[in-house]
Amino acid sequence: MIKIIENPNPVKEEIRICENCKCKFSYTKADVNNESWSNEIIGPGHYGYSKDFLICPNCGEQIIIEEVDSETIRRKQWEKELDENESIFPHLPIDSDIDEIINIEKKMNKEFLKTLLQIPSPSGDEKRGISEWEKEMISAGYQEPSYKDKMGNSGFSVGTGSTKILLSGHIDEICMAVGFITPEGYIVPKNMAGIDKKVLPGAEVIVCSSKKGDIIGTVQKNPIHIEYSEEKLKNKVLEFEDLRIDIGTESKEDTLELVNVGDLIVLGRSINLEHGENRFYGNSLDDKAGVFVVSEVMKNLMNSEKEDWKTKYTIIGLACIGEESGLLGATRAARQINPDISIDLDVTHACNTKQFEINKYGEVYLGKGPVVEFGQDKSRRLNSILTNIAEKEGIEYQRQVSRIGGTNTKSFYLDGGDTETTLISLPLTSMHTQVETMDYRDIEGTIKLLTNTILSCQL
Ligand SMILES: [Zn+2]
Ligand SMILES: [Zn+2]
Repeated sequence: MIKIIENPNPVKEEIRICENCKCKFSYTKADVNNESWSNEIIGPGHYGYSKDFLICPNCGEQIIIEEVDSETIRRKQWEKELDENESIFPHLPIDSDIDEIINIEKKMNKEFLKTLLQIPSPSGDEKRGISEWEKEMISAGYQEPSYKDKMGNSGFSVGTGSTKILLSGHIDEICMAVGFITPEGYIVPKNMAGIDKKVLPGAEVIVCSSKKGDIIGTVQKNPIHIEYSEEKLKNKVLEFEDLRIDIGTESKEDTLELVNVGDLIVLGRSINLEHGENRFYGNSLDDKAGVFVVSEVMKNLMNSEKEDWKTKYTIIGLACIGEESGLLGATRAARQINPDISIDLDVTHACNTKQFEINKYGEVYLGKGPVVEFGQDKSRRLNSILTNIAEKEGIEYQRQVSRIGGTNTKSFYLDGGDTETTLISLPLTSMHTQVETMDYRDIEGTIKLLTNTILSCQL
């Protein structure tokens, strides 16, 4: 007996119409031809091409079923991922990035920047600045701070990965203290952190009184007409002990009713967030602008729909205290947090005014983008990732050489265990004066660079 076994895999026939002669014919998989090749090209990547086609049995014309090249595959992949994730994606072609810059502008909370600048946050007593930082982060959707120490550093985290990445700016500002009170009731100040005595005579200050809250003071100055012993004083800058701060009182007793020796004093507020098309100024942009950038990056990360970085990294956004008085807060936080990577944000000298030697201090301009700093405490691996991403995303950036010291980066390097550190600077003119001036394009560029660097998962 012959048993007829049915073919378990019958040859499947399909119908095709020839685009040339319009005839209708049937074909099987065996009739499909393939032509493909691939080639190494200079740089990373592999260029490839593949084509499936039939030959029309009637007219002999080639009928293409599928044709792909590696560029098309890559583009299709981008489009697919873009559809899945409308937030910032790090490998987008340039034209898609323009939307993201606009997006960042729209999202930037300039009100928070203004509040930060208005609130005195003297180095050594930053609690009001820290409180504003925490309010902003919590209103952006973060829970309570994930890191807080007794001296006041405050950080928020996003992601659950094992690699700890610290993004930080310092929230403290340059300050003096009430050092001595004259019998007439004037305050004689003591410099505590970074105040330039040249900008004080004739200026307003704020005495952060432990008794009565903030009190406006004026730094008295001998009039130009009667500067005593003219010759001697012609080019002399008064020392701190020669200055007299008036808070409206008439005797030592009156003054002591209002302030204590040791109360901190900051520069009077001078804030203008719309100075021309792109510029803005304010005292203590060093480094509240850095804290502002960290807050914006943390918000972008919180709102990102891209997922892979969240299981790879834990990102800690930190507002650091005590930088101006000797990198104090960073030293404490570095030891406690012990991050794997630290990207510090601070300010650097822009040379637009051409009032100092460029060949000595380097050439950095307002409006030309974030400054990637090179030096002994700045990792070249991190810097090359940052600069590669900037180039890929069309973010204008600048390079500067800065030796170790002067910023929190040094503390994160020396005190943070096996931490890989670098520094990104925001260009600024008139550092440590009442009119520290910046450019929004640099702020936006820095936010974008940092956000995309994290999302790229390349760190
Ligand atoms: Zn400073
Ligand atoms: Zn600074």
